[in-house]
Amino acid sequence: MNQKIRCANRKCRRLFLPDPRVKNHRYCDREGCQRVRRNRWQRQKMKDDPRYRKDQQESQQCWTEQNRDYWQRYRDQHPAYTERNRLLQKDRDQRRRSDNLAKMDALNPKSHVKAGSYYLIPGTADLAKMDALSHKYLLIPIG
Ligand SMILES: [Zn+2]
Repeated sequence: MNQKIRCANRKCRRLFLPDPRVKNHRYCDREGCQRVRRNRWQRQKMKDDPRYRKDQQESQQCWTEQNRDYWQRYRDQHPAYTERNRLLQKDRDQRRRSDNLAKMDALNPKSHVKAGSYYLIPGTADLAKMDALSHKYLLIPIG
């Protein structure tokens, strides 16, 4: 049974020699293929094994709680970081609110794109669906 088989990862399909010691060896040893294998295995396990599912949910919950605590502590211990974030957020908020487009134009005299409101519409958009697909973006030209 020393025959090469194709990697089960659809994006790979490389021929490789399965290791007889590995049960159901269907993926080659590339990092990406092993990741696909692990993900598939976990998804299947989540579907088939209620106990595993429960364990996963509990550990996820635990992690979230610990993490929340971690970030809270981090903010408490790094006031400068928190302040910087607050200022950056304030800056973003102000920029979003700002409708003084003429002022932005004056700040970017070399820009080839005129400051203003643009609709970004997917190139393949179906005209009938366009309203639902289009979102209004404020385009701020760089340099
Ligand atoms: Zn592969």
